[in-house]
Amino acid sequence: VAEIEVVLRGLDAVLPHGRAPVDIGIGGGRIRAIAEPGMLGGADVVDAAGLIALPGGLDLHVHIATFFGGTTTRDDFFSGTAAALQGGTTTIAQFAIPRPGETSLEAIDRTRIEAATLAAADVVVHGAVVKETFVESLARLAELPGVGVGTVKIFSAYTDVIGLTLGQIHRLLETAAAAGITVFVHAETDDLIREGIDGAVERGELGPVGHALSRTPLAEADAIRTISRLADDVGATVYFVHVSAAESTHVLAGLRASGEHVYAETCPHYLFLDAAVYAGAAGQRWICSPPIRSAEHREALWSAVRSGVIDTVSSDHNCFDTAQKDPGRGDFRAVPNGLPGIEHRLPLLIGAAIDGDLEWVRLAEISSAAPARILGLWPRKGALAVGSDADIALIDPAGRTDLGSSNMPTDFLAYAPRAVSGRVHSVYRRGELVVRDGELLAQPGSGALVPVEAKPQAQRVTVH
Ligand SMILES: [Zn+2]
Repeated sequence: VAEIEVVLRGLDAVLPHGRAPVDIGIGGGRIRAIAEPGMLGGADVVDAAGLIALPGGLDLHVHIATFFGGTTTRDDFFSGTAAALQGGTTTIAQFAIPRPGETSLEAIDRTRIEAATLAAADVVVHGAVVKETFVESLARLAELPGVGVGTVKIFSAYTDVIGLTLGQIHRLLETAAAAGITVFVHAETDDLIREGIDGAVERGELGPVGHALSRTPLAEADAIRTISRLADDVGATVYFVHVSAAESTHVLAGLRASGEHVYAETCPHYLFLDAAVYAGAAGQRWICSPPIRSAEHREALWSAVRSGVIDTVSSDHNCFDTAQKDPGRGDFRAVPNGLPGIEHRLPLLIGAAIDGDLEWVRLAEISSAAPARILGLWPRKGALAVGSDADIALIDPAGRTDLGSSNMPTDFLAYAPRAVSGRVHSVYRRGELVVRDGELLAQPGSGALVPVEAKPQAQRVTVH
């Protein structure tokens, strides 16, 4: 038994099977013991009475320092991951989206170097395959697990710049299945999106509300239905990112019922906001794709999150600011898509748990355990369990979090001026205290690159 260096005493811990009052012993970066209160001692004891312990967040969908929509997000791997830590998230998964001329492997190399130099949280790298270098990237797709990448993202929309045709997607799914790679899909049927945008242009509806109307729930549900059918044909495992519409949750529930291997994600902005944001004076700032929809869609997403039809809640963090968003107010086609959110994802979900809208174990599942399972990293990541990495977020349930301020390098905060119940009190990343009372203690480059292995097809994970 490795030595216990630190004891967190008197916690209310969210363990995989339920909440319990415990002491947690940490040593060598891992959780070494979980015991009844008062049973661990002899080490550096931290009084954590009154605090709730969650497994450190694992944000499966972020775009740090990303060039997209003709501009680059304002963060870098240090500021982005520092904000993640301050929001209780200890591991992020970044999409290595090829820049013009780059193949998937080249984008992965670049991303790994940037992350290793600057990241303060642990980092998983997802691959991505885009239109321009599709042939070259597909030819070497099977090499990704060899460099620690077990997932790859594709886009069914944006076919003018990065998206793939259905035929290309089918071929890629087949290669991915053989290589044990899980395929992350941005699912919106491009022809239907085109039709929506053309219609908005004809009617002169080019403001933020026009953006929301141009990308229909039908386009998303149709793409999920079609691409899951292609995946089933070749035995691929797919993960639908940022699901936003009620229709999609119905399609996903049907796929689950018929035993298909699909995962689904939604994001905080679809759970905590609604389409009213687009009608305001600065509606362009909330432009993202798919768009934020009406309250009926929001309620359907909540029910899918609670029931398990949706597996994960990830930020889809894009750290744009008002100088990047506002010039496109009169033409949504000129607005870079995406919202900053890496720091506020977990506090929003914690607020929902404290307010009684979300079970604590389900919260740990959607924000940390399920992402870790999907990557094949559970229980090393995503669990408060003996032997797991000591990634722990300590929450003060009596505190409040002001969503009108943040450590993200932007002047646009999607949830301002709201405040939510609960506060991230302190954070341990692999046993190291990295946030104490809102103060960042982690150094640039102290985050680790976490490699992901290929998943044998026969052992595809069944969602519970
Ligand atoms: Zn995204």
